[in-house]
Amino acid sequence: MAVAVFGKILIGIYVEIKRSDGRIHQAMVTSLNEDNESVTVEWIENGDTKGKEIDLESIFALNPDVAPEEEVVQSPETPPPTSSISSGAKQIKPPKNRRTVAPPKTEAPPRENRAAGVGTTRARPSQIQHQQSQPEPPPPAALTAQQTQQMTLQQQQNARRKSNCVKEVEKLQEKRERRRLQQQELREKKAQEVDVTVPNYEIMCMIRDFRASLDYRPLTTADPIDEEHRICVCVRARPLNKKELTMKDLDVITIPSKDVVMVHEPKQKVDLTRYLENQTFRFDYAFDDSADNDMVYRFTARPLVETIFERGMATCFAYGQTGSGKTHTMGGDFSGKNQDCSKGIYALAARDVFLMLKKPNYKKLDLNVYATFFEIYSGKVFDLLNRKAKLRVLEDGKQQVQVVGLQERDVKCTEDVLKLIEVGNSCRTSGQTSANAHSSRSHAVFQIILRRRGKMHGKFSLIDLAGNERGADTSSADRQTRLEGAEINKSLLALKECIRALGRNKPHTPFRASKLTQVLRDSFIGENSRTCMIATVSPGMASCENTLNTLRYKLFSESYLVKSVVEMKSLPRLSPACLFISHFR
Ligand code: ADP
Ligand code: MG
Repeated sequence: MAVAVFGKILIGIYVEIKRSDGRIHQAMVTSLNEDNESVTVEWIENGDTKGKEIDLESIFALNPDVAPEEEVVQSPETPPPTSSISSGAKQIKPPKNRRTVAPPKTEAPPRENRAAGVGTTRARPSQIQHQQSQPEPPPPAALTAQQTQQMTLQQQQNARRKSNCVKEVEKLQEKRERRRLQQQELREKKAQEVDVTVPNYEIMCMIRDFRASLDYRPLTTADPIDEEHRICVCVRARPLNKKELTMKDLDVITIPSKDVVMVHEPKQKVDLTRYLENQTFRFDYAFDDSADNDMVYRFTARPLVETIFERGMATCFAYGQTGSGKTHTMGGDFSGKNQDCSKGIYALAARDVFLMLKKPNYKKLDLNVYATFFEIYSGKVFDLLNRKAKLRVLEDGKQQVQVVGLQERDVKCTEDVLKLIEVGNSCRTSGQTSANAHSSRSHAVFQIILRRRGKMHGKFSLIDLAGNERGADTSSADRQTRLEGAEINKSLLALKECIRALGRNKPHTPFRASKLTQVLRDSFIGENSRTCMIATVSPGMASCENTLNTLRYKLFSESYLVKSVVEMKSLPRLSPACLFISHFR
């Protein structure tokens, strides 16, 4: 794929682009156009996905670190040597830091383009530090012995002088301390319901007031379950975790009704007054932090179980930022010592498959149940039930995709499946310092397969996707990390296209664009395929940008964003009539 003219540009990486109005921001590369030496990029702006074709020269001028080695210097668009950017490209190393350290870039990030992650790439804080650390004076390592001696003498004299007035000072200090305590008590009394030590106290009050004005009607088990649509898209927000609570992070997600998610994004006006931008999204279902896995399963994967008995393909994805709860939803609760995979959607689906197998209608079909569990990491497939054996993916003349040698285990009951999940999970995280370090960059696929006399009858694929957060692909990351990041972006992009094609009954499904979509090809074709997407979000203010990115995944974005830029005073009314209802299905 890599044609030399594209240098280090890959589909899925983020590059800086320059807009016609002069703004520079990041956008994701979605295709490489060899014929006219250009790339197509996409970004999100005000909830809409936008795209543009840009010639390679312009890309290299703005992104010297992705240019082919020798071409960087020659680029005609590169400004003259006085500019910090061009001199960065000319100097041999390190161009990466120089590019982002340049003052115009850190000073004027295009604010309105928040969805593309402009100005907040992970690289930036460290680069600013780097910039600041350069002019620092040398460490005070060179004090002579004489100087040290003088200092201690001085200190002793001071101490003697101090001892004369020390009592006075202590008294004053005591008084001050008492006054301070009194004041603090007063303040605490005033703010009985809210914690004034919260760093974003003001924002917290705005969110609290906003919530007080809402009429809550959350999802209950009495609500009807969608049994007919081919695609179901849901959102699940987890509770604030220990770390977020310790940092006094704020919960910026509100789920007022069974299908609405609101994100309270803190903003600042030019005059520095802060306000909330409350963005409202509508999905098929929205699960708040009180919903457990049973509840999520009931409305998402459970309606798909029957599909596989009716010779169909069922697929359920967990999509979201690392740490937002994908594995918790799919695999079960892995926090603490008692890892319980019986509460995850994998196990709940398996349980219902065995229950349904006993129904007279299906019993007579004489079906056998099998399970597979594998991982896709950097475009390669590894068998989690066979000590991570690396597997090849082949496609025959009839476009049938095969994962060669994938172990398909015979399972007779839910307990058999639980054992497999345990084996697979421990295999997935073995040798890792943190369970999330590796799993955040790989997709895990668990499949329940029904066979009738050896022939495929139906397949349920449950996928715990790689984290969709930005960062790993930035130019400051090492090559391996960048490639991993690009591969993840590429596969999530391909997945989106395939699901959209399925939703629109398009004849052509671009499943070859990534290994993930290639091995899941069956899921995207056929009359009887059904898919469910569970987007998981972290509730903290610190995750706000990633959360908005998740909710704007193009699969949902244009049609699901209901209303934006709503200031505190103009509360959105939640009457369904004013909500923009999706035409997606
Ligand atoms: P991901 O797989 O998306 O990276 P995890 O599923 O590992 O995220 O979740 C991160 C942490 O949050 C875990 O400690 C998990 O137990 C906890 N967590 C996730 N979702 C929930 C939830 N709905 N309720 C309680 N804790 C949760
Ligand atoms: Mg995970």
